Amino acid sequence: MKYFTWNFDDGLEEDKEIIRILKQNNMGATFNLNSSLFGKRKMIGRIGNLGIKEVPLEEYDEKRFSLLKYSIHYRIPEDEIVDVYSGFEVASHTAEHVNLTKCSKEECIRQVQKDQRKLSEMFQTEITGFAYPYGRSNASTKEALKECGITYARVINSTDSFCLVSDTMELPMTGWHLQKNIFEKIQRFIDSESEEDEFFLIFAHGYEFDFNTKESNFEKFKRICDMVAGRDDICCCTTGDAITAIKNTRK
Ligand SMILES: [Zn+2]
Repeated sequence: MKYFTWNFDDGLEEDKEIIRILKQNNMGATFNLNSSLFGKRKMIGRIGNLGIKEVPLEEYDEKRFSLLKYSIHYRIPEDEIVDVYSGFEVASHTAEHVNLTKCSKEECIRQVQKDQRKLSEMFQTEITGFAYPYGRSNASTKEALKECGITYARVINSTDSFCLVSDTMELPMTGWHLQKNIFEKIQRFIDSESEEDEFFLIFAHGYEFDFNTKESNFEKFKRICDMVAGRDDICCCTTGDAITAIKNTRK
């Protein structure tokens, strides 16, 4: 079987439109949330298609000259979270979006467990997935996550292989929607005829689809969904379900 999974970070307002489109296409996905930051509103400054700087609303001045172009970076408020994400996998992204490689192991565990507790209370389910804020991981953060019962943790680098890595505590993405060759890569996945299970994790921040540039917009998101949805040989599910299914067939 082939498994195609969307993986989104930060719990942003754009996720509502993303979920509307995913539901139309009968696709699963995973959303990595920071439970201590629900409802926080900022602007995100970008150069080209790269979001590089978050600015608090109080400091944002539309008229001030800047080389950056700005879009909203609004996190969904707590009272809407369960409604928005039910039916999808929610995973941890730390309580406060911290770079774990700069934290002691104890602080890593605190950040992850705080997020897990809150999310599992809200969704009445165990939280076992994770995405590293800023994509940063090391041996100590991996150990900390394992102690928290995390079974997979996404990093920011990408792989050309469709074979699920054996160490899922450093899970690479297969593609970022903004990668130049993303459509070729997805087509190669669709055309591939391997005997083994295959895995394609595609990453995005919801705000990127609001850039409305040629390379980053909701039409592109829909086009990617159209390519892979509704096929007998591709299961479009949550990241956690894809990994569990592949690990089970490898046993
Ligand atoms: Zn993030």
